[in-house]
Amino acid sequence: MLVNYPISAAQDNNWVHECIYETISFIFNSLNQAIAMPEWPDILPQRHRERLKSRTAVKTLLKKVEGISAQLTAEQREKSLLLINNQNDIAGLLVGTTDPLMIEPEIRPLTDCLKLVFLEGFRLLTKTGSRDAHYRAIYDSLTVKTCPFCGYETFEAPGQKREDEDHYLLKDKYITSAANLFNLVPMGGKCNKSYKLQQDLLFKNNIRRKALNPYGTIKAEISLINTTPITLLDDKPDWNITISPDIEETRTWNEIFSIEERLKETVLSPNYEAVLREVSDFLKSLDLDHNSTDAQVLAGLERFEQYKKNNPEQGLGYLKDKVVGMLKFHFESGDPLVVALVRSALPQTEAT
Ligand SMILES: [Zn+2]
Repeated sequence: MLVNYPISAAQDNNWVHECIYETISFIFNSLNQAIAMPEWPDILPQRHRERLKSRTAVKTLLKKVEGISAQLTAEQREKSLLLINNQNDIAGLLVGTTDPLMIEPEIRPLTDCLKLVFLEGFRLLTKTGSRDAHYRAIYDSLTVKTCPFCGYETFEAPGQKREDEDHYLLKDKYITSAANLFNLVPMGGKCNKSYKLQQDLLFKNNIRRKALNPYGTIKAEISLINTTPITLLDDKPDWNITISPDIEETRTWNEIFSIEERLKETVLSPNYEAVLREVSDFLKSLDLDHNSTDAQVLAGLERFEQYKKNNPEQGLGYLKDKVVGMLKFHFESGDPLVVALVRSALPQTEAT
């Protein structure tokens, strides 16, 4: 992705997940130590008790967890807790320092119930307003209000129709992280419904892979410098998109979201003519014309690139600074076709 989300957006609003997690740990502990189980809502951690005590669906499900857990051994409960901890180490799973645990058949009755509890937790995120607070914090953090997975899908403002809240790790497989905001990422509808779908970020053909952490610090940069802007056979660029850093995490992102293909076909090619027209207008506005020197034209291209970088467009125009940078690079290298292309955009004023 092109921009990371702030950790605080997840951390500050993650109380539903924390509450369910702590209650389950409490149930396990009480059973291990043969302590009498308190009645609802005293089973909930005190600091969240008031906010969740009237929620009957989660109450019923946690009661079931208690009943099933009582039938298991202390070791089986320990295994279940390890599984929950494992599936919620989202950062470790994405960066590859933690490997996902398999669900062992002996704890299956409990994990089937845990799945329902955390799914109910996910529903509660909407009902309690946590989801909206989470989205608002992310939206406010974005300089450009677009989906950071593709860079061009517009994000609706908070209070409007909600953007997709993607389960980054699939909720049907990583069942106990369904309500954890560190596993929930606002995402444009196209990225979510047409590209990511049910792909498992952690595996491809059963081979483990790393993936970018939306709440981490690594993000991708796009460069078009290796693009050939014009050839004798074709006046359209042969787009070459370089994604850096070139690591497994960014390669997974490119693969899952078809980034290169979408940028070429949807963002770059259809907007290329418009960029050329803008370059032409900008250079004219600097009073450059046919008689200007290459150095003057180059300085003009540099100014336009900088202008686009400082004032990034939202949506499909967001890579314009890169396109101009690419033209500038080839102009400066003296590529005769690019020099001719840029110069043809300058007015043919008579020399005085
Ligand atoms: Zn997107």
